[in-house]
Amino acid sequence: MPKNIKLAKCAGFCYGVRRAVETVKNLKSENPDKNICVLGELIHNSQVINELENLGIKSLKELPSNGDGICVVRSHGESPEVFEQIKNAGFEVFDLTCPDVKKVQQKAIELAKNGYYLVIVGKAQHPEVVAINANAIQYSDKVIVADSVDILEQYSNELKAHKKIGVVVQTTQMISTLNSIVNYLTPLAKELLIANTICGSTSARQTEAKELAKESDLMVVVGSKKSANTTHLAEILSDITKTIHIETADELSIYKSLINNANRISVTAGASTPPNVINSVMEKLQEF
Ligand code: SF4
Repeated sequence: MPKNIKLAKCAGFCYGVRRAVETVKNLKSENPDKNICVLGELIHNSQVINELENLGIKSLKELPSNGDGICVVRSHGESPEVFEQIKNAGFEVFDLTCPDVKKVQQKAIELAKNGYYLVIVGKAQHPEVVAINANAIQYSDKVIVADSVDILEQYSNELKAHKKIGVVVQTTQMISTLNSIVNYLTPLAKELLIANTICGSTSARQTEAKELAKESDLMVVVGSKKSANTTHLAEILSDITKTIHIETADELSIYKSLINNANRISVTAGASTPPNVINSVMEKLQEF
């Protein structure tokens, strides 16, 4: 029987990532003689990072004490202190924080200012969450970062005593994580304000992929293992059907027998996966 291989409509670059990549390239072509660098990797994809390096756009592992030219803040955002440090080092700041991430930061600040005990649903070490937290703690020390109920349990008495609890969510979190945290907080709070800040692009990608998974023998998720939204996607889909998470088409050969045994295969990709990587996965699957 010929294989039925489908590609998700929402696979690949979200608007925030596309905007970041295009803007940085334009910035370099408009300022060819200026030093243009990005604090951290612009997106979680080594091919795109190499392409930017070849254009002369460097990714800084850490901020130097002295610099010149333009330093780009990537879509994850940064803390107010880091913005200051970039300026103090001598750079001009170019802020490419995704508008959806900015909304989470603003909501977190608003809740902290208004006396809510703030719960940020997300991974504490993720750069986006680090920046949201840093923005909120300027206004209140009542801030917890949690991606599971276990973490919140340590604060249950404090949360109960405070009565007013506000929740914001890392843009790429799974809705199931938000739901379990809200279920836990509901009996503790007199007032519970939930800002579901999972971004529209993440929700649409997850919803479409779940539908595809229901009718597929195998889901192929393409994207960096360092990317939060890609790993979450693979996690969600593996509860529905057999799922593999690969970074490039070369890895498909490891899963040869799984692919040969599947008649209906669907492919999706994380927000930082470029079109050429997705295309080569589709081509290789057709060869199988
Ligand atoms: S995943 Fe959402 S929040 Fe993150 S860059 Fe893309 S659009 Fe922005």
